[in-house]
Amino acid sequence: MAASAGLDVLVVGGGPAALAISTALAEHNLSVGVLSSSPRQHPWANTYGIWGEEVDALGLSHLLSHRWSNTVSHFGRGAVDGQHDSDDGTIHHRRDYGLFDKQRLQEHWLSLGERHGVQWWHDGARLIEHTATHSTVSTEGGITLRARLVIDASGHKPVFVRKPAQAAVAGQAAYGLVARFTNPPIGAGQFVFMDYRCGHLSPEQRREPPTFLYAMHLQDDVYFVEETSLALAPSVPFAVLQQRLQQRLAHAGAVMETVLHEEFCLFPMDPPLPDLNQRVVGFGGAGGMVHPASGYMVGGLLRRAPTLAQAIATCMGDSNWDGSSIAATAWQSLWPLELRLKHGFYRFGLSKLMGFDEARLRHHFHSFFQLPDPLWYGFLTNTLSVGELAMAMARLFGLAPWDVRTGLLLPAQRPPTWQSATTSAEMPSPAA
Ligand SMILES: Cc1cc2nc3c(=O)[nH]c(=O)nc-3n(C[C@H](O)[C@H](O)[C@H](O)COP(=O)(O)OP(=O)(O)OC[C@H]3O[C@@H](n4cnc5c(N)ncnc54)[C@H](O)[C@@H]3O)c2cc1C
Repeated sequence: MAASAGLDVLVVGGGPAALAISTALAEHNLSVGVLSSSPRQHPWANTYGIWGEEVDALGLSHLLSHRWSNTVSHFGRGAVDGQHDSDDGTIHHRRDYGLFDKQRLQEHWLSLGERHGVQWWHDGARLIEHTATHSTVSTEGGITLRARLVIDASGHKPVFVRKPAQAAVAGQAAYGLVARFTNPPIGAGQFVFMDYRCGHLSPEQRREPPTFLYAMHLQDDVYFVEETSLALAPSVPFAVLQQRLQQRLAHAGAVMETVLHEEFCLFPMDPPLPDLNQRVVGFGGAGGMVHPASGYMVGGLLRRAPTLAQAIATCMGDSNWDGSSIAATAWQSLWPLELRLKHGFYRFGLSKLMGFDEARLRHHFHSFFQLPDPLWYGFLTNTLSVGELAMAMARLFGLAPWDVRTGLLLPAQRPPTWQSATTSAEMPSPAA
């Protein structure tokens, strides 16, 4: 098939990252193409949550399907070294949390792209070749597309971006259900960010890697409940998460009537930063943009796409820039020193948390949410400056009980392992 006449930028992928960056670039009047192995309006599999203030600041709160003001976490009795035995370690976040209507979010980007002339090809990218001025992508279906810059937004296992080898990448694994309940698992109108209580677990299970419940009331008798492992290498098996979810629901007296949807979630939490000197620029999962302490990314995509697009548009305005220089400038804009330093802090913190047993982890998070509200919120959304992040970590150390302090000071512990299953989580095949 014939090659296109030549684009300014070709974006590979059709998920949130591809749509965010392609529309941001097209708004600069660049000629932008999207090449995706999934059809243009293919429904996204994942559901995306975001803090209310974050989505308000982006001016996109109209794209939420749900918004909760009753937002809580539970860290169990004795959450701070037995000092707070009178309560159950419940934290009221006093912050809204929202769930994107994923179809509306996708349509928002697609219509913006259409308005600004983004072209679409539905095919899988296979090969890439570079000359000094252009890159040419060949597809599975035999199309060739030429562009001055290629952005790889094909997800956590990118087709073109090279990532440094790492012995074991920690995965966030979760098993979730959307279901009708005759006896609900959480309060009506409530969002539970983290429920680390573990009264339902046997002593053996409590020695295994800790997991928490992430849950939301969706409507009427419909709730989403998800047993989640923050991060572990190898990741916690789905069978363990499923069993723990059932135990937790039974312990809470929740009675499920009908399962409407089952979710298997697994993505890398602590991949090293990609090599910033490569010719193809990554964005989203492909660009290593997942927040290594929380697993969130969509807010980051929305905040960082305009800056990256601006940097690329400036280069494109000058025909003397060759492909390598444009890519180098784009990578630096995506990962400036400040963000790289913060990424290092977060990965360091996560490596400590992965070695914490369940009691220490509950104590840690209970202390974390004692931080002043702007600090814990800024930490989770990656909106603090490096200085503020360092201050948050120092304050956290001061607030934390001794078991957490020693855990933070000692070399990272080897994560506990599980007895009840031997295979770590792997994404089920689409047919499963
Ligand atoms: C179940 C789940 C829940 C999550 N929940 C949240 C959340 O609540 N909030 C949050 O901020 N983050 C969340 N995340 C993390 C992160 O935001 C998602 O992983 C997000 O989908 C990553 O976006 P992406 O566009 O980089 O990659 P993907 O969404 O994986 O999209 C990749 C795209 O590339 C296409 N593609 C792949 N290979 C090729 C190829 N060779 N050629 C052309 N196209 C190709 C695919 O078809 C797909 O369209 C969640 C992740 C998962 C797995």
